[in-house]
Amino acid sequence: MKPASRPPLFETVRPAHTLTISSGARTRSIRLRPWALKTGIAALALSATGCVALAALILSGDNVAAAFKAREARTVSAYEERISDLRRQLDHAASRQVVEQQRIAARMETILERQRAIEARAELMAPLVEEARPAVLTPAPAASAYAAEPAPARMPFEGFDLRTDRASDARLALVEDAPRDVLLDTIEAKLAVAERHQAAELDRLAAEVEMRAAQAASVIEQAGYTVPADASAMGGIFIPLGSAGSEKADEGIARLSGALVELRLSREVASSLPLGRPVNGARRSSAFGVRTDPFLRRQALHSGVDYAARTGSPVLATGDGEVVRAGRNGGYGLAVEIRHPSGHITRYAHLSAIDVALGDLVERGETVGRVGSTGRSTGPHLHYEVLNEGTAVDPAPYLNAGRGLEMLL
Ligand SMILES: [Zn+2]
Repeated sequence: MKPASRPPLFETVRPAHTLTISSGARTRSIRLRPWALKTGIAALALSATGCVALAALILSGDNVAAAFKAREARTVSAYEERISDLRRQLDHAASRQVVEQQRIAARMETILERQRAIEARAELMAPLVEEARPAVLTPAPAASAYAAEPAPARMPFEGFDLRTDRASDARLALVEDAPRDVLLDTIEAKLAVAERHQAAELDRLAAEVEMRAAQAASVIEQAGYTVPADASAMGGIFIPLGSAGSEKADEGIARLSGALVELRLSREVASSLPLGRPVNGARRSSAFGVRTDPFLRRQALHSGVDYAARTGSPVLATGDGEVVRAGRNGGYGLAVEIRHPSGHITRYAHLSAIDVALGDLVERGETVGRVGSTGRSTGPHLHYEVLNEGTAVDPAPYLNAGRGLEMLL
């Protein structure tokens, strides 16, 4: 301890701190040195901070827990949000895939429908082509191919058989969307080619058959007979398949079908008429019309056509019909008469023999008798008559029509 009275060698600027304690009349002053003051203040501050911290700790214990919980909740919620976000992304991807699969499935279904339509059409075409073939001068190889295979088991073009080829289905499922679409595009292009081919083939055949039918009708009209226009009674009218993208082919089938009906009608009308030749390889020696009668030596109507032929040459029915007369018939000698479905009657006269009996049903080309010279005849020949509603008409148009139709029907 230094004595308080001893003066310092160097005076400091800092004023001395003095603690004054008063008690009644007595006053006591204590001078405080700076280090002691600092220490005291520090001790006081320390103890105050400790008290505050303790109080804060005691008071805020609950708040800290709450804050911790809140922070935990925020973390959990962030995770949940992330998870649901991922789930949304996953759902979106899954639904996109489903939509894509449905789109591909729809395309495949359309393709299969078209393929089925092509096959069904090919089956419908086969009998039509078969029927049209005789009417078509130069049958196309494709037409023969259709006819040769009435019920094709596979598609009429190279490529996949989508119905049975499961392996190709699996391949389709494996490839990515874009190549899969390219593959389907290729198949659709092939289907379109097959449809166009069918349509073109049908159009070509229909045009030829229509031409034949028109020519046949015209030839029949030259014989004085009209082919009925109403074809609805014939039946067998084609019902279109109605598949998408193949209207032209369906129209082609309807057109060919209609043309064949016309041709069939002409054929039926023709077969009902006496249009055939009554004797083969014979020269026509006398025509129908007014001529000098070989017996009377004056102008008279020759009611038929004469054919010079050897005795015994076969005499043929010129059309389908029923024998309505067979035997001696005055100046006609041995004669046969046939009534045809059209109502016409044909008469075959001066025969040397008769091969049919009354009531017999005969077909065109069937032998009904033999060339001879019975009745009013000057030598072996066939006298051939055509009667329309009981009146003898010129057989020439019928014979000419028959020759014309030979090429057409
Ligand atoms: Zn005659």
